[in-house]
Amino acid sequence: MKVYISADIEGVAGVVHIDQIGPQGGGEYQKARLQMTKEVNSVVEAALALGASEVLVNDGHANQRNILIEELHEDALLLAGSPKPLAMMEGIDASFDAAVFVGYHARAGTSGTMSHTMSGGAVANIYVNGQVMGETALNAALAGYFGVPVVLVTGDNRLTGEAQGALGLVETVTVKDVIWHTAAKCIHPRKVLRMIREAAEKALSDISQYNPLIIPGPVTIDVEYLRKAMVEMAARVPGYTQVGELTLRKECADYLEAYRWMRMMVVG
Ligand SMILES: [Zn+2]
Repeated sequence: MKVYISADIEGVAGVVHIDQIGPQGGGEYQKARLQMTKEVNSVVEAALALGASEVLVNDGHANQRNILIEELHEDALLLAGSPKPLAMMEGIDASFDAAVFVGYHARAGTSGTMSHTMSGGAVANIYVNGQVMGETALNAALAGYFGVPVVLVTGDNRLTGEAQGALGLVETVTVKDVIWHTAAKCIHPRKVLRMIREAAEKALSDISQYNPLIIPGPVTIDVEYLRKAMVEMAARVPGYTQVGELTLRKECADYLEAYRWMRMMVVG
């Protein structure tokens, strides 16, 4: 069994504010990235206990240098640093049996803890074939392109609800209940580690019950931007169609191509 883990930090236990998710936060950030590493370890330990031959961990947040490698389980492999072509899903391919998303957050336009979609500064919404999707569904569909099911997702209650809506049967661990964009009722970080370990064991012990999220081609991807200037800048790249005042569209042959274009439209 090969297990793929994509890790973010907004949905980690106790994390509620931007000071906890980047170096500008100093000690607050150091504590959050240690907890991020420990939550990943809970999944790694469960996978190895069930006989996994490889666990690949992809650090997906911001500069993608958040996980403390010296604190990571020594039998896991870590994808660190950026840019990576597939960003939060770098390294995923058809050789994996299951994917797990740790520390994820709800999509843009919701009241989840620090909710956004791919770029909080640029993106109002991303639509796939006309359906709004957050990072959970966007990334799960890339795993699905390779036939890999997402079996466990962890984060706040808005995120876990979103994951269930997008994926159907999936294990979830709710680590905090949202009060406001930057406030939540939090479960103790040590208790969260036990909850994630138990949920990962449950999910990885019977992968066959979970279905990959498969979006067959052709795929239409729409990026709705926050400001008109961003649309005008992005529209200079040939190949996009502007379909609304703030929205660019790209028609793609399949979901992998759509995901790559989406990355370009968000960062480029
Ligand atoms: Zn993040």
